[in-house]
Amino acid sequence: MPNLSPTKEPMPTQDPKARTQNFGEVALGYTPAQARQEAQRCLQCKNRPCMAGCPVRVDIPGFVARIAAGEDSRAFEVLYASNTLPAVCGRVCPQEIQCERRCVRGIQGEPVAIGRLERYAADALRAAPSPAPEEPAGGHAAARAKIAVVGAGPAGLTCAGDLARLGYAVTVFEAFHRPGGVLTYGIPAFRLPKDVVAYEIDKLRGLGVEIRTNVIVGKTLTAEELLADHAAVFLGTGAGLPNFMGIPGESLSGVFSANEYLTRVNLMRAYDEAYDTPVIRSRRVAVVGGGNVAMDAARCALRLGAENVSVVYRRSEAEMPARQEEIRHAREEGVSFVMLAAPVRVLGDERQWVRGLECVRMALGEPGQDGRRSVGEVPASNFVLEADTVIVAIGNRPNTLVEEGTAGLERDRRNCLIVDEQTLRASRDGVYAGGDIVTGAATVIQAMGAGKRAAASIDAYIRGK
Ligand code: FAD
Ligand code: SF4
Ligand code: SF4
Repeated sequence: MPNLSPTKEPMPTQDPKARTQNFGEVALGYTPAQARQEAQRCLQCKNRPCMAGCPVRVDIPGFVARIAAGEDSRAFEVLYASNTLPAVCGRVCPQEIQCERRCVRGIQGEPVAIGRLERYAADALRAAPSPAPEEPAGGHAAARAKIAVVGAGPAGLTCAGDLARLGYAVTVFEAFHRPGGVLTYGIPAFRLPKDVVAYEIDKLRGLGVEIRTNVIVGKTLTAEELLADHAAVFLGTGAGLPNFMGIPGESLSGVFSANEYLTRVNLMRAYDEAYDTPVIRSRRVAVVGGGNVAMDAARCALRLGAENVSVVYRRSEAEMPARQEEIRHAREEGVSFVMLAAPVRVLGDERQWVRGLECVRMALGEPGQDGRRSVGEVPASNFVLEADTVIVAIGNRPNTLVEEGTAGLERDRRNCLIVDEQTLRASRDGVYAGGDIVTGAATVIQAMGAGKRAAASIDAYIRGK
């Protein structure tokens, strides 16, 4: 008998006041009893509409049924068959616009908490005594070839995992000293603990994937050299180049890109006194942008002791691209939101240090062809937000480092690599690409979906040779 409650089992969380003093995880995860209750809300629909909302097509009713039956490790097996990073996706997927949006329980009430259940199944396995590492599947006869994967983010790691399962010898080349991409250097520990990421990456190593860190492809060695030594190359170098606003005063001391700020805090552990990484300790912070990156930067600034943190966004809350949960958590923690406002100038003091952010009020117009409402400035509505730090989180682009020393890779006007939509083959034979390097900044699960498709295409390419 399904559980007919119209609402999700609530997620236990750290108290908002307490959590602004630490970097511990905010959402604490379901207990086994809560997970069973929630799993019983699933109607096991025959046509499985929820699965169409998942870019890697997780068998959602399948794994949820196992949780409902108390078979947590079976639930994990079902999940892991299509998703190699379930503990990550359960935490950071924007479920409300993906799988949960299609859930029929959402028609009259809240959808099944698919993400929370995914996290539960993955965490239950991690908490259990260590399972034997998964052996590479062996694969077909052609699958002894060497494949190079550039970038150890979700796209590269997923591609590497799928190819290793097919029996290929996969080496991942990563510029940073730690693998994980944005999962490691961008998303803060209070949303995604770093031991969760490390555990899921270790499972990939168990599949036989070799990860070489501190290798910048384009500098340390070139993609050309990788091509000479490997049967195929996958490029998953993401979109780590920050956009700036292009307004006066942006070069003043105290203006940061969110990327730099978050990398210092997360990858280089600036929040931990045991590390020497310098990071600014601000009093009043203005964060510009409305996505997950802006929420993460604002919440890090609070945890580093800022008295006042404001998010400045040019549209209204309804248009904010950040996950709803992140906006709610930021608000609970005391972040203020200055909506319908756009920065026009950063103001400095006599030391050339930020003292404020001058903004203009914006008004929403009619929806355009893409369904998004236009915005326009309200004349003579300028105002100043007092701030000693401005963090810019208005999007990222791919960097072009990887092409240095390698000819024949085409990019579009946004710097994104051009690939065949179906196969993800780039403009150079034997080179495939996916994730943010192709789409521009998107989501973890979209990058993973691309990594999966590219792995299938690389396999077909090598078999065809
Ligand atoms: P990345 O994760 O960027 O990984 C690329 C890797 O390639 C990096 O490790 C980089 O160091 C490496 N690299 C780059 N150049 C080279 C080179 N020349 N040689 C070798 N290695 C190189 N998405 C969500 O779904 N939910 C969220 O909550 C969410 N929050 C986010 C918060 C932040 C702060 C940021 C920045 C992004 C967030 N995203 C979120 C977006 C998501 O993280 C990205 O879409 C996703 O990580 C893209 O994966 P990727 O593998 O394409 O690239
Ligand atoms: Fe939903 Fe993401 Fe899990 Fe797919 S991977 S089922 S989109 S939470
Ligand atoms: Fe279960 Fe919702 Fe999927 Fe139906 S749509 S199978 S209720 S998760």
